[in-house]
Amino acid sequence: LVSRKRKSKDTVIDLGTVQIGDGIPKIVAGPCSVESEEQVFQVAEVMARQGVKMIRGGAFKPRTSPYDFQGLGLEGLQILRRVADHFGLKVISEIMSPADVEMATRYVDVIQVGARNMQNFDLLRAVGSASTPVLLKRGLAATMEEFLFAAEYIVSSGNDQVVLCERGIRTYEKWTRNTLDISAVPLIKQESHLPVMVDVTHSAGRKDLLLPLAKAAFAAGADAVMVETHPNPSVALSDSRQQIDLPTFEQFMTQLRESRFLPELL
Ligand code: PEP
Ligand code: MN
Repeated sequence: LVSRKRKSKDTVIDLGTVQIGDGIPKIVAGPCSVESEEQVFQVAEVMARQGVKMIRGGAFKPRTSPYDFQGLGLEGLQILRRVADHFGLKVISEIMSPADVEMATRYVDVIQVGARNMQNFDLLRAVGSASTPVLLKRGLAATMEEFLFAAEYIVSSGNDQVVLCERGIRTYEKWTRNTLDISAVPLIKQESHLPVMVDVTHSAGRKDLLLPLAKAAFAAGADAVMVETHPNPSVALSDSRQQIDLPTFEQFMTQLRESRFLPELL
């Protein structure tokens, strides 16, 4: 069902005020984790000024260590919704349990299935039974075929509103947190009609590569790029090394516009 052979026309995810896959490159930005209403407000204010219409933020966080910050849960989703509505933004946030799907649909515009859950088949079926669009991230060590079959689980359960997100894969290379598989972008575009996003933050795991990786993503045909930004990254409760502060985020946007990878007015 996700194959181009079944449907040659590109799938466009229509969120009302913004579309993903309509041929106009988009940015998704926001903090790694929702930490407080004030934090999300500060980020959203800058995003709105930059014309960015989709905010991300983790409320249910898949952390490697059980002792690390696990997210604010439902309260985090409520914060995202309130702030997003204030600025006219759309919300993308991750859930990890099939039991949370129905609750999440009340607060988010796009449900994220994270890399660590790409093959959580019960979760894939659960989000597939909902009518809220899904952002499916590529697993840490997933092949292209496994990635597309994971999307197939969602679509075959009844939800054809799926965006595929390349977020870097595990390789032997240590200078980046993951290795951005840029070839995944044209490969997915050839094989599937679903829109493609590239998460440059989790791919790189460092701030100095975000701009060139975003340019590469758009040059390769990505429909959207995701980037994490935080008002004060050094005290962030997760991913403090790789989130960019708000002035740097504004520079990132300006440079993408100046190099014509983004339209003048988003
Ligand atoms: C995220 O986007 O918040 C995240 C945890 O990313 P990933 O699942 O790609 O590691
Ligand atoms: Mn993060």
